[in-house]
Amino acid sequence: MRKKIVAGNWKMNTLPAEGAELAKTICEHVKTLSQEEKYKIILGVPFTHIDRVVKAVDLKFVKVSAQDCAMYDSGAYTGEVSAKMIKSINCEYAIIGHSERRQYFGDSDEVIAKKLEMCYTNDLSPILCCGEKLEERENNSHFEVVEKQILNALSNVDAGKMQKTIIAYEPVWAIGTGKTASPEQAQEMHEFIRKILAKKYGQEIANDTSILYGGSVNSKNAQQLFDCKDIDGGLVGGASLKPNEFIAIINAIRK
Ligand code: PGA
Repeated sequence: MRKKIVAGNWKMNTLPAEGAELAKTICEHVKTLSQEEKYKIILGVPFTHIDRVVKAVDLKFVKVSAQDCAMYDSGAYTGEVSAKMIKSINCEYAIIGHSERRQYFGDSDEVIAKKLEMCYTNDLSPILCCGEKLEERENNSHFEVVEKQILNALSNVDAGKMQKTIIAYEPVWAIGTGKTASPEQAQEMHEFIRKILAKKYGQEIANDTSILYGGSVNSKNAQQLFDCKDIDGGLVGGASLKPNEFIAIINAIRK
């Protein structure tokens, strides 16, 4: 079901003990909020932190996500962490296809499709990221780029699997740059993504999918972004490491 979601992406930051403290602070705040509303708070933490963060929070209020998973089931893949391992420690989500994975670790659309498959097989809900680079926006190919990323990633994803999937639109030029997409730019792309989903899966599933915006979301711009009709929340990097900022962003989703 379509939910309002604020997801943090801690990237490669904090030590496990610091992460557990941060998660606890966030959870204490979320506990004070009305639980009748349809929203969800997810923390995307490093692999080394998952177990501690899961134990530090009450999973009724805050969910935990990995930031990636292996494209293979198990075996001789040194350094990799499987979806099954992630799921086994009560982590329910994985961020897949983040632009930093695409850019620095060679995650192609094909790799991303395989990682998604691993998520579904192991009952992890993927947060599938997409988004164009600056030059692609400048040469006006941003819609084409995002459509291709989504359709390639979802090529083997049926309607049942789609219902477990969250999409995050993160224009690369807005990530960590302090340069946010305007609410109009973001809304336009989110509406476009929903149309792609409607064409592939039907309007009902498209309407049910949460589509998050990511890229320099902070306590000042969150409200305006979240007020847009196709923006169902945010995937927040830098600001998710600052408890007061992140709490203000959580509050913005509920207004
Ligand atoms: P940012 O990162 O909020 O620091 O721009 C967002 C992301 O990469 O998910």
